[in-house]
Amino acid sequence: MTVPNGGNGEEVNYLRYWGANATRKVWVLLNRRLTEDLEVPFLKIGTKASTLDYQNEGTWLEVKIDEATKVTLGDPEVVKLTVRAGENVSETGVVLDPLEANEGTFENERRYDVDLLPVEVVELSPKVKDEDGNDIDGSEKPNTGKPLTPFVEVDPFANRIAHRELKVKIGEALKGKKVTWTLEALPGATPATIRGEWDDSPIHKDRFEASTAYGANGFRKVSQASGETTIGADGHTAIRVNIPPIGFNQVRIKIQIEGMSNPVDLIDMEVPGVVVIDPGHGDHDSGAVGRTDNTVLEKDLALAYSLSLRQKAIDKFAAEKHGLMIVMTRKSTTEYLDNTLRAELARDKGADIFLSIHFNSAASITARGTEYVSLSAGLQVNAAEDDQLGATVQGTTLAAVTASDAGARHRDPKYGSYFALKDTSYGNTAEYHPIRGVIVEVEFLSHETALETVKLSNATGAVIQAKFAADVSTDIYNNILNQP
Ligand SMILES: [Zn+2]
Repeated sequence: MTVPNGGNGEEVNYLRYWGANATRKVWVLLNRRLTEDLEVPFLKIGTKASTLDYQNEGTWLEVKIDEATKVTLGDPEVVKLTVRAGENVSETGVVLDPLEANEGTFENERRYDVDLLPVEVVELSPKVKDEDGNDIDGSEKPNTGKPLTPFVEVDPFANRIAHRELKVKIGEALKGKKVTWTLEALPGATPATIRGEWDDSPIHKDRFEASTAYGANGFRKVSQASGETTIGADGHTAIRVNIPPIGFNQVRIKIQIEGMSNPVDLIDMEVPGVVVIDPGHGDHDSGAVGRTDNTVLEKDLALAYSLSLRQKAIDKFAAEKHGLMIVMTRKSTTEYLDNTLRAELARDKGADIFLSIHFNSAASITARGTEYVSLSAGLQVNAAEDDQLGATVQGTTLAAVTASDAGARHRDPKYGSYFALKDTSYGNTAEYHPIRGVIVEVEFLSHETALETVKLSNATGAVIQAKFAADVSTDIYNNILNQP
């Protein structure tokens, strides 16, 4: 008794065939990538053949595997077709023997569709968390398509690594065989390289480690770039994959199964961008108050702008098919967070960007314009990165105000020792500084015209808010995309 085996050792789950008297021509349709050589014997189907209407494709008989005992070897001889592992022959026929004189009649053609179960990631750990730190239902399964299946950052301040553990189904027939793991920058992706260094992590310097969630599976380090595991009796194996935690790092993970001639592309994954948006002030701290309209409070404007920006960033990243975790330091006008804690939130979420939104005030009633605020040079570890983000967002914000009020003007950046911007609170050091952080001061609420321009009860206010959100979300996206 010989039944075709699927490439991963699973038995085929159905066979289709035409004709009761086929002799020498076999078509094999492989719907999935093979992971080991497949031998398809030349088969003769048993008792059901005589009842098959072979001229009507719609009545193809499906022989389920529990009926496979009815499959017997054909005559006059057993011919075997070998399809090499790694080949992907979807919808392509493979001819065994030269065509016969009566080609074209269904009686002399026999055809099998072999539907193979794929080697696949069946589960990932840990689950992805939402911005509030709660597990996202279903996130233990890989994504289909883009955004790619995400890595997660657990205690990024201490670990300086993104990771995920992968449980992979290969097939019981291959139990005991070794699997060698490698990864590469995702071909054709932007950015084209994996940014950052594994060596930045104090404890996760290798690309692969033993899984803790799914068992060690005989893990053995081959090199910094490669690991090896064993396929268990249940046909599964598992590993932990580490990637530098820089937003939009995209990788292709490959496995080479012992005895196979080629590695198999297992899964493509991405480190999502992480953005913390900080509406300045809050609750008892109103921030600036409109000089000529004291119902306008900085804390309310900052929150409204931040919530709009949050939504536009979600839309932008989704449209670009990149992963995003966006976190707000506060979501209501009655919340308040100490500024150091705001910076530490960025640190603990593994932020790429911390953007704080404020409105300005001055004793001089003529002062107006848009500026960004950054940390003083003496306190800085990544001044150039902060200035690039700040200048870009300041320019975009100014353009949004200018579009509704020609009196808007550029102001040079301001530098100081601001608690929300402290590199020490971000966990940024001279050698390792994953976070860019700046404040944008949209306009002066102490300037009468500027106040009328930006206040949300006026039409111009809503227009500026919308343009700010749409265009700054693009700045944020591009900043992560272009981070070297
Ligand atoms: Zn402020």
